[in-house]
Amino acid sequence: MVEIEMEADVETFAFQAEINQLLSLIINTFYSNKEIFLRELISNASDALDKIRFESLTDPSKLESQPELCIRIIPDKVNKTLTIFDTGVGMTKAELVNNLGTIARSGTKEFMEALQVGADVSMIGQFGVGFYSAYLVAEKVIVVTKHNDDDQYVWESQAGGSFTVTRDVNGEPLGRGTKVILYLKEDQLDFLDERKLKELVKKHSEFISYPIYLWVKKTVEKEISDDEDDAGEAKNTEEGDVEEVDEDKDKEGKPKKKKVMEVVHEWELLNKQKPIWLRKPEEVSKEEYCSFYKSLTNDWEDPLAWKHFAVEGQLEFKSILFLPKRAPFDLFDTRKKPNNIKLYVRTLCQKGLQTTELFCRLNEQKCVV
Ligand code: ADP
Repeated sequence: MVEIEMEADVETFAFQAEINQLLSLIINTFYSNKEIFLRELISNASDALDKIRFESLTDPSKLESQPELCIRIIPDKVNKTLTIFDTGVGMTKAELVNNLGTIARSGTKEFMEALQVGADVSMIGQFGVGFYSAYLVAEKVIVVTKHNDDDQYVWESQAGGSFTVTRDVNGEPLGRGTKVILYLKEDQLDFLDERKLKELVKKHSEFISYPIYLWVKKTVEKEISDDEDDAGEAKNTEEGDVEEVDEDKDKEGKPKKKKVMEVVHEWELLNKQKPIWLRKPEEVSKEEYCSFYKSLTNDWEDPLAWKHFAVEGQLEFKSILFLPKRAPFDLFDTRKKPNNIKLYVRTLCQKGLQTTELFCRLNEQKCVV
């Protein structure tokens, strides 16, 4: 009965023609630089977190569905999946259908044209189609999402022209946010490797301003008493995870305590660095400025110049302005909403008791303190 209802909830949609073309290009063309998919998905997660944070400044109750703002990465070697999970704004059903498949951005076509004249696939984010880079490494992608104003939905596609959207009646509730589950291609299983994931986050996403946690496996030494061992009590471990390493014997030579190696999982914070703009300019290297700029803008080239400065007065903030080497491809596209200069300051208010946030969108002339 439940299954029939579930079946009835599944809706199938065709990808818009240009998006379909883009997907075929991503899947069938040989690109060695596949690792950029992770940067793109983390960047989408960070944008979604920005959106809910911004909304919460005028309506704090919007965070109640999930107060923690963070990104979690979960490699699963058994199921060969890599999951990127954020507690951002999420997507309503309509947004899910429009944003991930039925409405093409102007950048879709431009990106394909740029690729044909030798552009690198790593530029995908600049064209506003970064999500589809998931198909560089995945044969199937599932997106589970929950927006405050709608139910939880599941988007699923193996490319091939269509995707499905289903109301998630039985899935684990997210509270709020988006979970992107990548079913990795057989030759891309390296992306489940902890070391590799840490390296990639460090390389491309070090400056993301939300905590990024990786679900890691650790081996810890634990002493267990004989009784525990007899009862076979090796709690919270999977079969085969406990390995006997030592036995302490009492006077009669009977084993008293055993040391075992236990495999546990825990969250490890990957981006521990203080935000670059809060550091002193003389302590920040040229490489750090350049890699921060690239991670922020998706530009593949170093900036032409930058200015790191502090403003003091009625408002105080520290800032870095970057000047790109080239103008963006759509600088004069009048259909495009101008990109906002973003200013984030997390600081103490005058009384020093409460944390206030200042978030200005300068182009929109909107400023909330
Ligand atoms: P871009 O992020 O450059 O706009 P993408 O193709 O990467 O382009 O994503 C398309 C849209 O899908 C985004 O603009 C956003 O609205 C939505 N989206 C993608 N990932 C997420 C996410 N993790 N949470 C919420 N919305 C998302």
